[in-house]
Amino acid sequence: MEKRYYPLSKYLKETFNKKVYKITLDGGFNCPNRDGTISSGGCIFCDESGSYSRCNSAENSIQTQIKESIEKLTKQFKAQAFMAYFQSYSNTYAPVDYLKKIYDSVFFDDKIVSISIGTRPDCVDNEKLDLISTYKHPWIEYGLQSAKDETLKLINRGHDFNCFKQAVIETKKRNIKVCAHIILGFPNENKKDMLETAKKLAELEIDGIKIHMLTVLADSPLAKIYEKQPFYLLNMEQYAEIVCDILEILPKTTTIQRIAGTGYSETTLVPKWVNRRFEILNLIDKIMIQRNSIQGQNYIKPKD
Ligand code: SF4
Repeated sequence: MEKRYYPLSKYLKETFNKKVYKITLDGGFNCPNRDGTISSGGCIFCDESGSYSRCNSAENSIQTQIKESIEKLTKQFKAQAFMAYFQSYSNTYAPVDYLKKIYDSVFFDDKIVSISIGTRPDCVDNEKLDLISTYKHPWIEYGLQSAKDETLKLINRGHDFNCFKQAVIETKKRNIKVCAHIILGFPNENKKDMLETAKKLAELEIDGIKIHMLTVLADSPLAKIYEKQPFYLLNMEQYAEIVCDILEILPKTTTIQRIAGTGYSETTLVPKWVNRRFEILNLIDKIMIQRNSIQGQNYIKPKD
């Protein structure tokens, strides 16, 4: 069934004329919000793995991680094209010459057609962005989580919305695609706040989005808060309705990179439904059909 939104897989197929598989890499980076540079506690929802990461291990070199993944994906799916994705922690948090060495090492095989780098908006500068702009089809994924500064303070992000906005502007200037990560269901936010975040991202004409439900992970600071004083968490239906509202607000061209996930069931304390990926995806499809809506139908193009 054709989706009523624009999945990343479709964008990649249209761009490269073949299916592109993501290879998730661990470049062995740290995060300034965990190592004491900004704070030592990190974002309150983040556990020790550095924000929902589940990927290759930094014990192996980048080339080994890629080679092993290519071998596996080729055997399993006859895969021919790959995107190298640095996921864990802040993958621009190092001097630029070191970053160059790490990113260069990705492109030893022509089958790597794109690179995607996950990081914080306060971990880039002109020099780093200039470097990233030199690679094949580059993306940067910025954690934002919410456009509401009060929330960013509450969750100990260590940056505000303006920092994110400036990073996006500088990144897009260099023709690097931008994907933003947001989280729905912070206890201090109502639906209006969450849709406001979507509107601000739509104004910035971001190229991609990953939407997460707030999840209390074992060993995260949020787990301690929740144990002391449990707070309300959205149920699956409420989450899916808000995701559909967001899809309607975003431009048609924004690639939808994640709206449901799996794989953290062992560390997820609450809500457990977040790991029922296919159920969530089906519900989102069902709501969009019931509403007869499509991505972008409520998008308001910013004035020049
Ligand atoms: S910036 Fe990312 S890795 Fe660092 S504490 Fe926050 S979620 Fe975790």
